[in-house]
Amino acid sequence: MAADNVLKAIGLTRDFRGFRAVDSVNLEIARGSIHALIGPNGAGKSTCFNLLTKVLQPSAGTILYDGRDITRTSPANVARMGVVRSFQISAVFGSMTAIENVRMGLQRRRHGDSWDFWRSEKVLAGLHEEAMELIVAVGLQDHAHHVADDLSYGRKRALEIATTLALDPKVLLLDEPMAGMTQDDVHRITELIRKVAAGRTVLIVEHNLSVVASLCDRITVLARGKVLAEGEYKDVSQDPRVIEAYIGVPHA
Ligand code: ADP
Ligand code: MG
Repeated sequence: MAADNVLKAIGLTRDFRGFRAVDSVNLEIARGSIHALIGPNGAGKSTCFNLLTKVLQPSAGTILYDGRDITRTSPANVARMGVVRSFQISAVFGSMTAIENVRMGLQRRRHGDSWDFWRSEKVLAGLHEEAMELIVAVGLQDHAHHVADDLSYGRKRALEIATTLALDPKVLLLDEPMAGMTQDDVHRITELIRKVAAGRTVLIVEHNLSVVASLCDRITVLARGKVLAEGEYKDVSQDPRVIEAYIGVPHA
């Protein structure tokens, strides 16, 4: 039986003015898995994410989502189909409260850019309820009515995940969700990712290898744009090529 891959990249390649940042990468992301993309800085991890979400156009290669070729699909349509990259904090509206931010995400999913729905009290009440569920899901229930700018860094990342979940992704891509976090926040976000991964597929770039070890089913290691190793953490972490690629990297 063929593996059930929700996302597949074949020969994915991206050049930046003659520099090959991503070089013939093959990726198979199993449906329902948490899959890590790791590797030294500059390995091409973020570029891969941008290619898979079509924010960047590949120079060569093919991307399949649920068996459908999305290599030439627009980023908006890819997102609509369910492949969503977590927004950066800069995309959270700082002057709006946590729950208002989540409600914005829900509105975008339901109504696109139309503002007509504002006229319906019933629609608004329904959105509020659903937004509150997401706020609770990411552990921000005590902060729902706090302005986003006043939230701690870790809570802002949780809010960012909630606004992303509002788009109901089938495949959720998280690029270094723990970057700059305290140990407490790392623990909280790890548990949050485990929770939101239920019923979806998560692709995560993460430098914290103990997080990767505890959270992820499969790991792909990139170095200089190429796949260096692929497999379960216990195997990949023993691979001499992987160890070498990480020498001198403090988080190895
Ligand atoms: P990672 O996320 O693994 O740290 P990136 O995907 O951000 O790596 O970058 C891979 C390589 O591609 C780096 O050498 C980076 O400088 C280069 N790169 C990334 N984006 C661009 C761009 N828009 N223009 C030119 N070079 C880029
Ligand atoms: Mg990066």
